[in-house]
Amino acid sequence: MKRHLLRTLLASIIFILLSFVVRTYPDGFINSFGDINLSHEDDKEYPLLKVHFIDVGQGDAILIQSEDSHMLIDAGERHNSDTLISYLRENSVSKLEYVIATHPHSDHIGSLANVIDNFQIGKIIMPDAISTTKTFENLLDTIAKNNLKITKPIIGTEYILGSASFVIIAPNGSNYKNLNDYSVGIKLKHNENSFVFTGDAEKLSENEMLENGINLKADVFKLAHHGSSTSNSDDFLDAVDPMICVVSAKKDNSYGHPHVEIMQAMKDRNIILYRTDEQGTIILESDGKTITANTRPYKISEKDTIRSKP
Ligand SMILES: [Zn+2]
Repeated sequence: MKRHLLRTLLASIIFILLSFVVRTYPDGFINSFGDINLSHEDDKEYPLLKVHFIDVGQGDAILIQSEDSHMLIDAGERHNSDTLISYLRENSVSKLEYVIATHPHSDHIGSLANVIDNFQIGKIIMPDAISTTKTFENLLDTIAKNNLKITKPIIGTEYILGSASFVIIAPNGSNYKNLNDYSVGIKLKHNENSFVFTGDAEKLSENEMLENGINLKADVFKLAHHGSSTSNSDDFLDAVDPMICVVSAKKDNSYGHPHVEIMQAMKDRNIILYRTDEQGTIILESDGKTITANTRPYKISEKDTIRSKP
């Protein structure tokens, strides 16, 4: 009888201890593994992922939403900040878990200080690049004023966003002549769907991603540098092998973005193309298996692939 009691007591103590250990694992413990199992049974519906390529004229601003978690890649020029802030509010954003400022050019960080002042911010990821512009200095001041810390991009680091995750794929170097090459690149994964964003990374950075053997294969690629032919090399496009590409640019911009060579490449590869300059804000929705868009694909015509005479 006594022995039985002792055994029950011991079992209870072990049980209590075990449940304590299990309960005290912080969320981060599970998330810190590179390859996590998002454990959704096949018969269950996978939560939706929404990727908004917001029309901010000549620039980038991409909102990514998964299960009430929000992330912003770039924020367009400063003069678009009211439009951007309204757009985020209309889409139920109060907190941005992650903000990525790909590189310190005004068409990417112009509205970011205003965004930081208007929303709760989690992690802000920025490359180790400096610019002497007022826009950049103002951004740094705003980050400091809001007691935020800058997280530097480290290749291979994985972050969780709702039922999706993303991994840092660029920059692979630390010393570039062109600020564009500092662009933070990520691959976003959502069950079977994936997206690659590389800011304005030029061919130099693209080659480094290729040389480092990074798995770039993705369903969707936001064409780098607004569809410039100084980015989006054939080798890079081969490696990403996207089904869908998106151009974020302003109609009739002075740079001629997207360039005719890239439009030709889209045509040759039968890529489904969307353009903010021609179609406004593009929203892609992934259910983990298929991707749907808020509009029909852009039809590439002859004028897109032939350079107009100067
Ligand atoms: Zn740009």
